[in-house]
Order: sequence, then C-alpha cells, then structure tokens
Amino acid sequence: MNRVRLVIFNAALGPLDYRVPEGMTVEPGSVVVAPLGPRQIVGIVWEADRLPATEVPDAKLRPLLAVLPVPPLKAELRRLIEWTADYYCASLASVARMVLASGGALRGPATMIEYRLTGGIPERMTPQRHAAIDALEGEQATIRELAGVAGVSEGVLRGLVNQGVLEPVEVDCDRPYPRPRADFATPELTLEQREAADQFVAAVKDGGFAPFLLDGVTGSGKTEVYFEAIATALTKKRQVLVLLPEIALTEAFLRRFEERFGAAPVVWHSSLKSTERRRAWRAIASGDAQVVVGARSALFLPYASLGLIVVDEAHEVSFKQDEGVRYNARDVAVMRARFEGIPVILSSATPALESLQMAEAGVYATVELADRFGGARLPSIDTLDLTKEKPERGRWLAPRLVAAMRERLERGEQSLLFLNRRGYAPLTLCRNCGFRFQCPNCSAWLVEHRLSRRLACHHCGYETEPPARCPECGEPECLVACGPGVERIADEVAEIMPEARLAIATSDTLNSPEKAAAFVSQVEAKAIDVIVGTQLVTKGFHFPELTLVGVVDADLGLEGGDLRAAERTYQQVAQVAGRAGRGEKPGEVLIQTRHPEASVIAALAAGDRDAFYQAETAARRHAGAPPFGRWAAIIVSSEDEAEAKEAANRIGATRPAVPDVHILGPAPAPMSLLRGRYRYRLLVNARRSAELQAIIRGWLGALDFSKGVRVSVDIDPYSFV
Ligand code: ADP
Ligand code: ZN
Repeated sequence: MNRVRLVIFNAALGPLDYRVPEGMTVEPGSVVVAPLGPRQIVGIVWEADRLPATEVPDAKLRPLLAVLPVPPLKAELRRLIEWTADYYCASLASVARMVLASGGALRGPATMIEYRLTGGIPERMTPQRHAAIDALEGEQATIRELAGVAGVSEGVLRGLVNQGVLEPVEVDCDRPYPRPRADFATPELTLEQREAADQFVAAVKDGGFAPFLLDGVTGSGKTEVYFEAIATALTKKRQVLVLLPEIALTEAFLRRFEERFGAAPVVWHSSLKSTERRRAWRAIASGDAQVVVGARSALFLPYASLGLIVVDEAHEVSFKQDEGVRYNARDVAVMRARFEGIPVILSSATPALESLQMAEAGVYATVELADRFGGARLPSIDTLDLTKEKPERGRWLAPRLVAAMRERLERGEQSLLFLNRRGYAPLTLCRNCGFRFQCPNCSAWLVEHRLSRRLACHHCGYETEPPARCPECGEPECLVACGPGVERIADEVAEIMPEARLAIATSDTLNSPEKAAAFVSQVEAKAIDVIVGTQLVTKGFHFPELTLVGVVDADLGLEGGDLRAAERTYQQVAQVAGRAGRGEKPGEVLIQTRHPEASVIAALAAGDRDAFYQAETAARRHAGAPPFGRWAAIIVSSEDEAEAKEAANRIGATRPAVPDVHILGPAPAPMSLLRGRYRYRLLVNARRSAELQAIIRGWLGALDFSKGVRVSVDIDPYSFV
C-alpha cells in the first residue's frame, strides 16, 4: 500500500492522507493535485512522521490525481516551512502557500503571444494611435501590458494589430534570463573594503552556515563589498538572494547591479505581472535564475542551489510582515541560511538592537566599515530647538533651516526635508463646528491629500472627495488643516523660495519603479533643488550634490510609546542624515525638535551611536523587552463588536498561569476599528526561557470561535496598534 501524507493548501484542514496510484511516483516535496470532496487541491508530499497522523483506513483513501511538473521542494525548504509555521504560530498550509507563490508556474512549460511594432504606419493616423506607436518603441509584451505602457485602451492596440502596425510573436514563457558575470566590472576596493570583502568571499567559498553583521557607516561601500561575495557565488554557480526593504529602491539597485555584473538580476515582488512571476519562479526552481533581488516574499521561493543571502538595510521595519503569516524576513533569512548551510549577510548602518546583541554574543560575526568611501566625511549634525528658534506663525520650518536651504539654492546644491507624514495634513476639521473627518472603517482620522484632491485613510485605503460643505453643520468651504504633512511642507518651501524646483518623494508620488527611476535621474541631473520626503528617502539613495538634510519634526516618532520608538527614530534620522554630503562637498544636518535633551536626539547630535545603543539596551533589559525578553500579541477581531469582545474575554478567562509569563488584557486595541473589524488585544510578555509559542498554541488551541471571529498571533510584534 502506497500511502502518502500531504500538506494541503487549506489552513482550516490539517494534513491529509492519500493513495499513490499505480504508475505514479512521488517523493517528499513533490507538488501534487489531490481530490478534496468534489474539488481538486494542490498539496505537497511530506514526511508522514513529521506531521500529525490521520485516522482514515487504507481502504478508504482516495488516489492522487497528478504530480505537477516542477522540482520537488527540497528538504531544507521543508524544514524552513516547518520552522516558520512553528515559530510564528501559523499553519503549514499558509507558509507553504508563500513557497508556491505562482499558480501559473506549476503548470509546466508554455509559450504565449506577445506583440511588437513592425515599423508600419496605420492607414488612418489618429492622435491616440500616434501616441501609442511612440510609447511602444522597443517594447514587446501582451496586448494588455502594452495598453498599460501606452496608456490607451486594448481596443486601440487591436486596431493596430489589424492594420499590421503591431505583429504577434510567439515567446517561450520560460526563456532564460541574461547571465550576470562575476568579472564584468570589478571595482578597486579600499583596504578596509578589501578586508571586509575577503571575509565574505572566504565564507561563500567554504560554504556552511555563517551569519554576518555588515555594520558600516552610510556611504562606506557596503553594497560594493557584498557584491564581491555575490561574484564568488556566481563563480561557484550558486544562487544568491538579495532582500531589499522597498520596491521603490529596486530600480537604482538594478542599475548599479547591471553596471557591476553586466546583466540585471531577476526581480521578485508582489506587483509582478503573472507572466513575470511565472517565469521568475520557474527559473528560481530550476537554478537558472542566478541572482534574485526581492521583497521579503522572495525568501520562501524554491531556490535550486542557494549559496548566499544578503539582507540590505537589515534594520528596516518593512521586513516585518504584519498580515497573514506575521514573520520577520530578517530573522527567517538567518534561519533559511542555517537550513541551507550557507552564509547570510545582514547589512546596515544602524543595525537593529536584536542584531547587535547577536553579534555581541558571538553568534553573528561583525564586519565593520568605519569610513565613507572616497574621503567623503560624515555630515555635521546640529539640533534646532523649536521652543527657542520658532518658525513664523503658521509655518513649520525655523529661520535657521530656511537660511541653510537658501544657501544651498544659491550654491546650486540640493536640500532634503524629511517628514514621515504623507499628504497635506494629518487631521482635517471644520472651522465652524470642529467636526473631524474620520474613516468609516477604522479608528483613524482621514488625511487630506491636496495633490490628488482626496481625504484618505492610511490604514484601509478608504478615499473620499473633500466635501464642499461640512457634513455636520453645513458650513461651506470649511476645512482647516491641522499639522503638517509633506505636501504642506512643500507648499511652504514654494512660498518662501518660489524659484526652487521641488519634488515630493513618498509612496504616493513614487508608486511605481518607473516613477522612482525618473525621480532619481531628475535629482542626479540637478533638475531638483529641494526634496521633501517620507521614510522612503531615508535609505539607499546616493545624491552627491545633496548637502543639507532638515528633519522637520524629530519628536514625531517618539510619541505613542511604542516599544521601538526610540530605536526607530534613531535609525530614521541617522539614515536620512546619511544622505547628506555623500560626494566631495561636506554635508550638514539640522534636526528640528522640542526635546533636544532627549537621549535619542542628544546621541544623534553628538554622533555618539554607542551612547544611544547602550542607553537603549539598558532600557530594554530593564523592561524585559526584546532581545532580553519576548513579546507576543494576540489580536481578536470581528465585524461584530460584541462577538469580538466575547471571544477576547473568553481567551482572557482561560489564560494559563505560567511562571515567567505575564499576560495583559484583553483590552480594545489602540486601533479598535480597522478595515471594518472591531479589535481586542492581549499582550504576552515572557522571559526568554519560557516556551512562548507552545504556551500560546496550547492556550488558543483549546478554544473554539465562531466563524466571524479571527484570532491572530503576532510573535515579536513591531506594530502595537
Ligand atoms: P553604503 O551601501 O555603505 O551606503 P555604497 O556601497 O552605496 O555605500 O557606496 C557609496 C558610494 O561610493 C556609491 O556611489 C559607490 O558606488 C561608491 N563606492 C564605494 N566603494 C567604491 C569603490 N571601491 N570604488 C568605486 N566606488 C565606490
Ligand atoms: Zn480606514
């Protein structure tokens, strides 16, 4: 009897057993199709003894239907799936789903039809056709994609096909990617860089698990150095994964990579077209994709022979996924490297406290780069006390900061103003009755966006036009903006320096790789004098003519009492400061604050990183916070408030009494309404010694909830809303 156990793609059901029919061969890791009731589902063959047993007798088993034409998932990846599910209290199915992230890829080789210009001219030329032909020069893609590129309807392009202006081409969906070459353009490294690179090169050559913390000041050449490790992996014919925190940064990275290796890497992120996703997935699984650059989801792909993982800007909060499987890609990257037996490099100028702690404990090897490349000096940093140097009434920029910006403008240099708030103003109210515009789905204020003429919720995406009259009192044209967002700061700059050429850099304005690339080349071409941006501009960018950074409100991140507030503020300000003076000209940073004496701000001004980390470490140790103690959040939500409350209370009432574990709540979550769901929260704080996950699993596993209730567990939470 040939019986196999499957992890199936249905989180509500556990593993299921099936019969392998005559003539079919499967092994652990095989991706198969199985019957489930009247439907068919995809599953992965698993080692039966690693999963809970099922009770169906042999005679009642249904046969597998097919084995999908993809390589079986390797044991290393199966162990990573198990670890991730176990550590983050998630189901195997939901983690496995991230691995098989492309349905199309599972169906095997295929071809498809794309279109390209023939050089012909339509009989009747319309402005639309003209624009389309211009836009499609050099492009080849499906009609739908081309319509997107050209900004015209598919109908217009079908017309051009009938006229012989566009012709169909049959393409292999899995055509190979151009190959990067290790020795395409090798840089001359400085002595310090060489020593760092040598350590990585040796580790990649030798193989074996080797976690590194690449701790180097901004502009020291961290990228250049880990590129050498990538080159070694290429020579060894092993694959490389580079995780980046933000898709907006990929474009600049891709260009740089291509300059070094002669071909672009394979890109992976959530907004890939399905054909690109399919092609990338299959190339990754076959080993044909040599270097993959991606967002956190690239971590779970089925690499055929991974040889190195790099996590760039490893301190970034965006590596933490806050829905579905709530994992931290930085931590899972280290685990993946461990299962694969390969080196992993965490690169940052402002490492997470957790990473520094691991380095101090000797678990990670630290590689330091202390100097900026090319003799560039770190910028001088000064605080600007807003209680003493007040901006003019109704303004947000203090006179000294404005004067410094004027100087830059006169010298033809660039300034960057940093404020981590999208839109025009964080709060809008009626001047007559004080009515505040609130999101109907969330406990959050609507944010005014003047560029797009919208009131928007930054939590659920709800948008509405600003009303002509107050919905409460009927007063016309009554909206008053409270507080600044980047658009308002940009308005202020336009008023005081009308001749300055401005760019707003946020996820609203740079929402595609093309727009991000256009922004970068404009700044590089000196077509921009002042950039106003959110956290998006704090990292990655290298603008040699940018010599002034103004932090509009350094106190903003410290409000709210989040566990990581101080660390995040330190990292953001240090990173954005690192954008100044990266070329030959020295940089200056001005930090506007009401609390220049706060330890984070003082450490930033003094350039004393160690002092900050020491104080923060002591505070965390005292509070039993990570990395010295552990936190988990249990979030209970439902569209029905009473139901959510009842479930939360029941969880609270059955709390286990375990030494070294403190359980707080349930209480309404700070965001008590989010995307139409009412939310209650419990927080669990435990000593490192406690079996946190096992305790939570045992506790919640014994309870049943009604269908509308969702209970999610967030291990090592970053968001406390
Ligand atoms: P980091 O990642 O540490 O901020 P980068 O790797 O981006 O630093 O390097 C900063 C700038 O210096 C980049 O423009 C990079 O191309 C340049 N650079 C660094 N090291 C070298 C080198 N050895 N040769 C040439 N250019 C270098
Ligand atoms: Zn909302």
